[in-house]
Amino acid sequence: MHFSISLPGLKEVDIKRVEEVGGVIRICVEMERKIHRCPSCQSRTSRVHDYRIQKIQHLKLFERKTQIFYRRRRYVCDCGKRFSEKNTFVNRYQRTSIENQAVGIRAIKGKTFKEIGDNYGTSATTIVRRFDQLARSEVKPVEELPPVIAIDEYKGDTREGKYQLIIADGITKKPLDNA
Ligand SMILES: [Zn+2]
Repeated sequence: MHFSISLPGLKEVDIKRVEEVGGVIRICVEMERKIHRCPSCQSRTSRVHDYRIQKIQHLKLFERKTQIFYRRRRYVCDCGKRFSEKNTFVNRYQRTSIENQAVGIRAIKGKTFKEIGDNYGTSATTIVRRFDQLARSEVKPVEELPPVIAIDEYKGDTREGKYQLIIADGITKKPLDNA
């Protein structure tokens, strides 16, 4: 799979690695190291204390289960205070991921909510709720094609064939459709 397409919700992180582990796509990300203000004494520090891996799950990307492994940095201040780096992407990512799931769900036809739930690693109830949200917000068709279209091929495993195409806006890199 080519990762020439930027991933929604992950614009402010560095994607260090993308690997496939047991059919699950694992995207390893980090934030840029920068000066933070100590929440305790207000002095500035960029001294790294340690890293923790935070796993963010349940996004389905291109028909595969995807996990984000966020290597979350902790800083240490001269006063001894240790604190996590600031980030806004986790919340935003999780919101985007709900959208993505809804999009993915739309593409699946002729499956029961239970099956879809199993697929997404969640319950049938959650899937039904997502469906409702989606129906209410109404799907907007692509009214006008963007000036540049990027077409990328990736290995899928649907019955239709081994390889699938994703069509994206060549400028914003946002996926338009996949087939
Ligand atoms: Zn301090």
